[in-house]
Amino acid sequence: ALRFENVVKRFGDHTVLDGLNFEVAKGERVTLIGPSGSGKTTILRLVMTLEHLTDGFIYVDGDPLTHELRGGRRVERRPKDVARLTTKIGMVFQQFNLFPNMTVLENITEAPVHVLGRSKGEAERRARELLDQVGLADKAHAHPTRLSGGQQQRVAIARALAMDPEILLLDEVTSALDPELVGEVLGVLRDVARSTDITMLIVTHEMQFAAEVSDRVLMFDQGRIVEDAPPGVMFSDPGEERTQAFLQAVL
Ligand code: ATP
Repeated sequence: ALRFENVVKRFGDHTVLDGLNFEVAKGERVTLIGPSGSGKTTILRLVMTLEHLTDGFIYVDGDPLTHELRGGRRVERRPKDVARLTTKIGMVFQQFNLFPNMTVLENITEAPVHVLGRSKGEAERRARELLDQVGLADKAHAHPTRLSGGQQQRVAIARALAMDPEILLLDEVTSALDPELVGEVLGVLRDVARSTDITMLIVTHEMQFAAEVSDRVLMFDQGRIVEDAPPGVMFSDPGEERTQAFLQAVL
């Protein structure tokens, strides 16, 4: 589970998130929608600890992620404590971010071996299972640069899953793909959503996909939650004018 408590994020004097509060229950799938610049990607990057939290707290399974209250003061947690929590979190990026100098198999086994301390054999067995699941069993020894964008993104999904994450963050994972490759990636993610109980926090412009996999959809505007509703309500009968205008523009 994931909880945001009074989360503030500023870049210089630009306040992107201004006291954000919300919770994602264990196993829940929550999609963030909203106009460009509303802070959706920043939220995922804060959870992945790729951005520094200006104020407030993020909790992973009740444990404070990067900052905690000690003696009434907000202090940073030790890197070791942060690392213990971030191994529970996987992220798939818009730009795949595979290691270009490693094969597909090496990309997937790198973290399980070096972070989780798994044996090479065990990590490779699991990697091959995952490659099979994402339809790339025959690409284990290929280099990412030889693969299509859709294939690279499916490798990135396998790489994230290889860490057995409790929480999976998906940041506009189809936005960099040619239109004809979007379907294969969303198909893999639907399968992951169906076959696991991984908690998911998703930023996407694919509203049909969001409607299919989400338990809840949060509509953001200017760093605030404008509306929080199940997809059936959000996409067919949103309560807020701001949501109606946004959906009218994108659907
Ligand atoms: P998009 O759909 O375009 O990705 P978003 O809702 O994900 O939008 P964010 O990417 O989270 O929005 O960005 C929110 C705001 O924070 C934007 O105004 C952006 O310019 C700003 N921002 C993000 N990263 C940085 C950074 N490293 N330095 C300065 N400003 C940043």
